[in-house]
Amino acid sequence: MSTSILYHGFGLRGVEYERLGCEDGALVLGVRLPADQIRCPACGSADVIGRGGKERRLRAPGIGGKRVFVDVTAPRVECHVCGAVRQVKLEFAGPKRRLTRAMERYVLELSRLTTIDDVAQHLHLSWDTVKDLQAEHLRRRFSKPKLKRLTVLGIDEIAVGKGHSYLTLVLDMKSGAVVFVGDGKGADALGPFWKRLRASHAKIEAVAMDMSAAYIGAVREALPKAAIVFDRFHVMKLMNQAVDTVRRSLQNSQEDEAERKTVKGCRWLLLKNIENLDTERDEQKRLQAAIEPHQPLCLAWLLKEELRMFWQQESREHAAAFLESWIGLAEASGIEPLEKMAKTLLKHWDGLLTWYDYPISNGPLEGTNNKIQTMKRQAYGFRDREFYKLKILGIHEAKYALVG
Ligand SMILES: [Zn+2]
Repeated sequence: MSTSILYHGFGLRGVEYERLGCEDGALVLGVRLPADQIRCPACGSADVIGRGGKERRLRAPGIGGKRVFVDVTAPRVECHVCGAVRQVKLEFAGPKRRLTRAMERYVLELSRLTTIDDVAQHLHLSWDTVKDLQAEHLRRRFSKPKLKRLTVLGIDEIAVGKGHSYLTLVLDMKSGAVVFVGDGKGADALGPFWKRLRASHAKIEAVAMDMSAAYIGAVREALPKAAIVFDRFHVMKLMNQAVDTVRRSLQNSQEDEAERKTVKGCRWLLLKNIENLDTERDEQKRLQAAIEPHQPLCLAWLLKEELRMFWQQESREHAAAFLESWIGLAEASGIEPLEKMAKTLLKHWDGLLTWYDYPISNGPLEGTNNKIQTMKRQAYGFRDREFYKLKILGIHEAKYALVG
């Protein structure tokens, strides 16, 4: 077999062909390292003498549906120059794993297309082998993001699993990249991030976040000069929760079973943006029919749709007038969750209007959030928290986002 085939077909560089066999339906390719090319791993000298070696069987990418193994002896040598006795490193395989580097690359390539379970099954590898390869790749590529050029940050928290466990994410709002994943939520979760940010000497101008007190305090303390912005993504998330609270209490108070079901069933339609309601599926009509008999629900929905306009005002002054009028309407509604929302907005007035100085796009936070929701449904679940954090750090780069 030619060196060219060994290299281009199997990713084996610097070896000589010895034999080809068949074992249990798999091809076994025997190769060896040419004696005259063996060098001392410590000093590079060619003046070495063999001291045994280690037999290794490595998995390589398959051919024609058949699995391929490579048998090779990794020689151990004694050096006449520096006196070291060491194992020679193979160029085409890592020291520990039982796969060639070409096979590792192939596993990562497939990982971009499908889940860990699928890759493991298709290649007859264990779930852990595939996961470990992904983790190593993600760690190498994403575990220490450069923070120096950051100017606008977004802070978000996500619930993990079914318990009340959280992760806190920090995003670069310009690129959408997740630059930090911290354990838990609130000020404590951000501690390690501030440390790294200080070391990077980044000049942060603005931070987008939700209106919860914990993050506000933490950001004021760590970045006293940065503007705090309550962005559309976070404000509308809270508004949607208020609408859903109105809906749920109405649902619980319905005595008629059919009506209770209708109120329950309109949940997603209520939260959808009006322009996204699908006319072909009669979503507008269905929503109208569900909420029309219930004045509080109608009002909640209208105020939700209205609030979205806050970010589309001509100027900061217009926005201030808009906000004042919205708060007035919500306060006068007599519906508790809406009154509460009005209070929250009033309390965070400045940070809401600051959006007009830093018109942060909704895209990065929303996009990352959606991708994380999709990832949550993947089969690997939450068996490994560190791995999950790595996956989140890599999530924005579609090309490298490993699927499941
Ligand atoms: Zn040496």
